[in-house]
Amino acid sequence: MIRNPIIAANWKMNMTPTETEKFFSVFLKELPTSNLRDVVIAPPFVSLAKAADMLMQADSVKLSAQNMSQEASGAFTGEISAAMLLDLGCRYVILGHSERRSLYGEDDVVINKKVHAALAAGLIPILCIGESLEQRDGGQLESVLSTQLEGSLANVSTDAAKGIIIAYEPVWAIGTGRTASPEQAQETQAYVRSVLSRLYGAAASEVIRIQYGGSVKPGNAAELISQPDIDGFLVGGASLDPVSFAEIVRAGCC
Ligand code: PEP
Repeated sequence: MIRNPIIAANWKMNMTPTETEKFFSVFLKELPTSNLRDVVIAPPFVSLAKAADMLMQADSVKLSAQNMSQEASGAFTGEISAAMLLDLGCRYVILGHSERRSLYGEDDVVINKKVHAALAAGLIPILCIGESLEQRDGGQLESVLSTQLEGSLANVSTDAAKGIIIAYEPVWAIGTGRTASPEQAQETQAYVRSVLSRLYGAAASEVIRIQYGGSVKPGNAAELISQPDIDGFLVGGASLDPVSFAEIVRAGCC
């Protein structure tokens, strides 16, 4: 089964609209033109419109949001709906990032509601899962990941699940400079695929793309992507530099 790699940038709370314009003026020149696979950029909400403008001439790069409300509309001050994101040109939305889970109390019930809201609106969820170091060292790796998958994907149909992107991001590797070794990431991602197989059947699990995230850089991307169950990356810190991110895209796709 050939799964098309998908390389996504999570800018977190970085990049004003002005900085976004500067990023794309460099990145679009650096972007490889041949064999380009799926490339996704998730700016903060306020920079989505500027990013959409900059991408008018580059439809090979898709836009993502970093979060959204589970509600469709109404009295939810400060929230952003799936319909608003679609209207701005988003194709994807990152859901369940470990920072949303740990800093903003999002649990699998909330994340599941967001997954359903995104799918209903026509956005593709990039669903993040991952264990803390304490959980890994305590022998809970598999139970944590299967609980997160089962909870976040509850009542999601097989057809819908086939289009979702899973981002496996060990919390201890996010923003720490400490990457999972290619073997560690492969072993865990094969486990994630086995859970998807139990939930949706072997054929569907072979179609679902599983990204790795956690201190991916130009220097480690090629080795990570050579693993059979690593189907792309979700990149935080290194995606803020247009040259570095373009290098990761090259390593991940050509
Ligand atoms: C992330 O936040 O999704 C992430 C993977 O960050 P970093 O690449 O900086 O570890």
